[in-house]
Formats: sequence, structure tokens, C-alpha cells
Amino acid sequence: MQAEIVTIGTELLLGEIVDTNSAWIARELTKIGLNLFYTVTVGDNLGRAAGVLRTGLQRSDVVITTGGLGPTVDDITREAVAEATGQPLILDEALLAEIAAYFGRRNHPMTENNRKQAQRPAGAQVIHNPVGTAPAFAVEACGHLVICLPGVPHEMKHLMETEVIPLLRERFGLHGVIRSRTLRTSGIGESAIDARIGDLMQSANPTVGTAAHPGQTDVRITAKGESEEEALALIAPVEAELRRRLGDHVFGADQESIGDVVSRLLAERGQRLALVETVTQGQLAQDLAHTIDGRGTLAGSLILPDAGALGTALGIPSEDLAGEETVSQQAAERAAEAVRQTYAADLGLAIVGPADPGAPEAPPVYMSLSVGGRLRNGVPRPGRSGVSGQGWLIHLALDLVRRELLGLPPLD
Ligand code: ATP
Repeated sequence: MQAEIVTIGTELLLGEIVDTNSAWIARELTKIGLNLFYTVTVGDNLGRAAGVLRTGLQRSDVVITTGGLGPTVDDITREAVAEATGQPLILDEALLAEIAAYFGRRNHPMTENNRKQAQRPAGAQVIHNPVGTAPAFAVEACGHLVICLPGVPHEMKHLMETEVIPLLRERFGLHGVIRSRTLRTSGIGESAIDARIGDLMQSANPTVGTAAHPGQTDVRITAKGESEEEALALIAPVEAELRRRLGDHVFGADQESIGDVVSRLLAERGQRLALVETVTQGQLAQDLAHTIDGRGTLAGSLILPDAGALGTALGIPSEDLAGEETVSQQAAERAAEAVRQTYAADLGLAIVGPADPGAPEAPPVYMSLSVGGRLRNGVPRPGRSGVSGQGWLIHLALDLVRRELLGLPPLD
């Protein structure tokens, strides 16, 4: 059994909005064990949308569309499905009454073009939409099925969860489940992980795979089982073995970020962290502030344009800021301790580097953590440019704090 997703909307093709619907639906289909072979995006053009749907219905058992169900002329999904399935569009009186009631409850006048939303291809099964005005529907064509959902993400998700997933399970006899567990690691690269766990990556069920991000490598375990319990039971021993082999490089699991972990560890200890950052321009503070425990554990943060501003902002005597353009290990150490004192925090963290750490000949980026006056330094890093370069530095800095809070030895 195979599925296909068709997202409809010219704004998707123009890059004005990002197609998050496909990614979300893809994950839901994976969970019920339905194979997804194609994802297609098409604009608000009747001929092209009908063509894409015709192709989809030939090669896939089920095509799920999102978008184009609104009341305006460029909402062409109904017409495109009618054309692709050879079913005429009819006005559904019951649907019309439902839409009128929706507007009535909100005291909004219903306009003439809202009547268009009560149209559906003949023979379509209506999927009622209690959270919006765009009704969804499903149509059969030569033993294949097309399911049309609204583009608005929260409406689409609601209908997927309450109506479409049960319908797909029933129709395709999908009783198995797929579950995944993702271990998040830091301080170890993808190839080093591969060398430690390569044999486990040969397994068929569960499968084990890696994905590298700036400063972080994820190890995902995915199991197929007849029930959730069975899938989780297949994952558990593999997770234990991965944790044994990867040791303290594993900092969290699933949705947990390293910022979440650091904030949680600080909260558990009743401690607060102060920050000063030049090269990462406040991104580190933001990452921490957005975590659940962020507000209670972030004592304060200073964002400075460059290392030269450290002296004035933190009252560090210039003779203490030795080094080329004050980007130095000593500058980071002084800044870490000064910011800790400034905000009366337990820990002070400094990331000090050149404006463009990826430029040729740029000095390295220095990180230092003051723990009640005792210093713990990160390894000086030749920086990288851009957002992912910043993400990488932030990850390393937070891992320095994590390792300190857990009493782990420094990384090489
Ligand atoms: P409605 O009539 O309720 O607006 P619709 O089915 O006509 O629903 P669209 O008009 O195509 O939906 O899209 C409505 C909004 O939903 C878009 O402006 C966009 O913000 C969001 N949206 C549409 N498609 C996607 C998508 N694939 N991924 C993420 N967001 C989307």
C-alpha cells in the first residue's frame, strides 16, 4: 500500500510559505506503517492540479491533498478532483446548511462565494470540519482514493487525527505501528559514532540510523511492531546498548535540545547562569530563554558587538584583556567571571570570538565557564561562518556547561 501527498498552493511554489503540512502528514503516515513514495507541490492552476492528481491516482493507493478548499476563485481543489476522477461537482445542501450555521454561530455574514465550499464531487464522502469552514472530502476513483484536506495546518491536523488516520487504518488493514526513539549526542562526530555502532546499523527491525546537525549527531532507532508495546520492546534493548557504547556523549532523547537539558540541570540544582556572548550575537541567550526552565535559570545576558566591548561593559581593566584584538582565552576567562559577578549568578559563561569567525586568518573562538570563580575552559575553536557555524558554537558552549553540571571530564 502506498500513499502520495499533493500540496496545492501557488504561495508554496513561490517560497512565500514553507510546506510544513507534507512533513507533518509524512510522519503520521509513517507511524501507521503506510509507505509514502511521492510528495508533490502544485500551484493554483486547474489543469496542472488535475494532471498531478490523475498521475497520483494511477500510481498510489491513496492521495492526500492539502489546500485550495477555500471560497475564492483560486481555490481549485474541488474542480481539479472532479476533473481527475471524472465526477461532476454537485452542491451538497446539507453541507451548505452546516456552513451557514458555522457563520451564524460567529455572527458573520455568509458571502455568496462561501456557497462554493458546499460543492463536492458527486459520490464524495464528506469529512466534516468542526474547526473551520473548508469541508474536507474523500473520493474513490478506480479503486484508489483521494482525500482532500484544508491547507490551514491546525485544521488539517485535526482532521487527519480524528478522521483520516482511522479511515486509512480501516481501509488498508493497518494494525501495525512504527515507533522511533532518537538519542541526541554531542562532542562526537558522525563518523566516530559510526565506528562505535556500525554493527547495530545493519539490523532490520529496529533500524538504526544517524543524522548530523551543527554540534549534534542524532541516532534514531525505529521499530515496527503489531502494537505500540511490541515496537517499544524492540527499541528498549537497542537503546540500552547504544547508550552503553556512546556513554556521556548522549545528552538527551527525542525532542530534548541541549538548551533544555542545561536549563533543567540548573533548575534541579537551584542554580542560575549568566552569559556574555560576542560572536553568537544573542542566539545562545535566546535558545536558553525559550526552554521550559529558561526564565528561572538565566540570571542575565550581555550581547556585545565585539570582544573589544568586553572591557567597558564588564569593567575589566584593559591590562587583563591581553591578546590580539582582545579575542583570547584570557579575555573569555575574565568575561566569564565578570558576568557571573555582575548578575550575581552561580555560573558565568563567555563565548568570545571575532566578528566573522569563518574569515581567513580569523582568531579562534574561546569559551570559558566560571563556576563560583573556578574556571573551566572549552577547547579554542577555529570558528565557522553563518547560522550553522553559530549553532555549532552554541552547542559546544552549552555542552561545556552540561559536562560541568554533571561532573563529567572535559572533552579532548
Ligand atoms: P481555508 O479556506 O480554510 O483558508 P484552504 O484549503 O483554501 O483553507 P489555502 O487557502 O490553500 O487553504 O491555505 C490557507 C493557509 O494555510 C495558507 O495561507 C497557509 O498559511 C497555510 N497552508 C496552506 N498549505 C500549507 C502547507 N502545505 N504547509 C503549511 N501551511 C500551509
